[in-house]
Amino acid sequence: MKPTRAGFLNSLRSETFDVLIIGGGITGCGVALDAVTRGLRVALLEKNDFASGTSSKSTKLIHGGLRYLKQLEFGLVREVGSERAVVHALAPHLVVPEKMLLPLYEKRGLGYWLTSIGLKIYDWLAGVNPQDQRRMLTRKQTLRVEPLLTNTDVKGGALYAEYRTDDARLTIEIAKTAVRHGAVMLNYVEVVDFIKEDHLITGLMARDNRSGEEIRVRGKAVINAGGPWVDQLRKADRSLHGKRLHLSKGVHVVVAREKLPVNQAIYFDVEEDGRMIFAIPRGRVTYIGTTDTSYHGSPDDVRTTPEDAEYLVRAVNKTFPRIELTVRDVESSWAGLRPLIHEDGKAASDLSRKDEIFVSTSGLISIAGGKLTGYRKMAERVVNLVVKKHFSKVSLDTPVTSRLRLSEHESPASHGEVAGLLSRLRQMLEPFGFPAHVSVQLIENFGYAALDIARIFIERREGRDEDLSLIYAQLRFCIDEEMIQAGADFFVRRTGLLYFDIAKAIAYFEPVLNRMAGDMNWSEAQHAAEVVEMRRLLAEAQLKTSSE
Ligand code: FAD
Repeated sequence: MKPTRAGFLNSLRSETFDVLIIGGGITGCGVALDAVTRGLRVALLEKNDFASGTSSKSTKLIHGGLRYLKQLEFGLVREVGSERAVVHALAPHLVVPEKMLLPLYEKRGLGYWLTSIGLKIYDWLAGVNPQDQRRMLTRKQTLRVEPLLTNTDVKGGALYAEYRTDDARLTIEIAKTAVRHGAVMLNYVEVVDFIKEDHLITGLMARDNRSGEEIRVRGKAVINAGGPWVDQLRKADRSLHGKRLHLSKGVHVVVAREKLPVNQAIYFDVEEDGRMIFAIPRGRVTYIGTTDTSYHGSPDDVRTTPEDAEYLVRAVNKTFPRIELTVRDVESSWAGLRPLIHEDGKAASDLSRKDEIFVSTSGLISIAGGKLTGYRKMAERVVNLVVKKHFSKVSLDTPVTSRLRLSEHESPASHGEVAGLLSRLRQMLEPFGFPAHVSVQLIENFGYAALDIARIFIERREGRDEDLSLIYAQLRFCIDEEMIQAGADFFVRRTGLLYFDIAKAIAYFEPVLNRMAGDMNWSEAQHAAEVVEMRRLLAEAQLKTSSE
């Protein structure tokens, strides 16, 4: 994505768009890509950074949702289950197959045979290849796969196929692909009101949150993909009737890999309430989540509380008897909101994860619910509706997103190509002392562009601090190609350093902000505000109060 912010803002001021999208999470970006590739003129407005809402706070799995089988949501399991292989093929460096271990216990959870049949149905609904289908394990085999489970009442286990990803990177790649096909995608532009004629929406009042400028934007169809903010936008449209959102908070904590050295991703139940949570190894850390509790505060200020972290730590200690985690081991954390549809009498964890579309009398099309994994199908449904309502007489291209590789020039075409790419990158970086996981992370984040980043690093190495030089090389790429505007865009949504290598974020946020200030002509006040914001984010992720 070239940083054509000024050009995009000009388009916003002067054009009439076919489709205006509010919200740059995975839902909005998915809709933008689908619509632009059908030949529609598209603009997307995001009030903060792309993926700054729920789409950077998930468990980061492209998964079929095994637990939805328990809720008998066969349609949902079939759709998201089969989407996994599609999304993997679109970006094989970023959506990576991962076997999940499900331990089974003597006195709790599902029995061995029920699990075996359930997983068989799961594989069948999702169309999983025979060689990747579930494998049931004896107790001995389970303990061999995961020795940390020793001494518990494990009676067996199962290995089944899932995919891991980075939610924010996936969203950014979809946004970049939409830009490449001609969409106007702007971060830090907030929709503040709807413009109506004869009670019908004809445009949006927007504010550039970097300059304060107010802009009138004209469009034929308006889509509300505001995630947890969907109802705020419906309220501004005066159409908040009938079904409403039920926000559910989910927290993840990150610990050093050696504190919880699981061999692979594992999905286990929490003894105290029977809920299921994940522990997922990633580079030098393992992350654990998630909680699922109804949330009534502001969607702009969601935090991990000490109680959230204690719940996850207790669950880990109970499952892995040799592990003695404490909340003090938590290096980093994140908290996000599921924008679910409310159902009377149901607790947050029992609510359906299915998406729903609401159309108001003013023409606002709102989409809520759903999963990261199902973004493509959700987008297809929304754009089909837009076409039916507004463009039925126009000849448009058919949906192509199932075969449109994400960021084509940067995304390898196959799993084999990813392996080749990794070995080239390791050859470039290991002479400078970087461990293998640094190369893996760069490939998973940036695909082929990781080679460009390595070249920038080699050409422009500064001083003796190789880590800082590599961070500067990533920064250069993100400023030039990925529309970053603030420190958090870089440390949270483009590189994930704040979650997965927080020591580097702490060590380097000041030099990075100095460089951004110079490159992006920040005023002194803006620079100072960025430093304060990064300090706040770092403290929050580490569960510290700002006075600590
Ligand atoms: P968001 O990502 O929140 O995007 C909405 C955007 O709208 C925000 O960026 C916001 O800033 C913007 N916005 C709001 N108001 C305005 C305005 N006025 N003007 C401009 N912009 C505005 N799904 C999976 O498939 N796999 C998982 O492993 C998984 N794990 C999860 C774990 C947790 C804890 C949670 C909370 C969710 C998880 N999900 C998972 C679900 C998935 O993350 C969400 O369904 C998805 O990210 C929602 O995306 P979205 O685009 O609808 O919302």
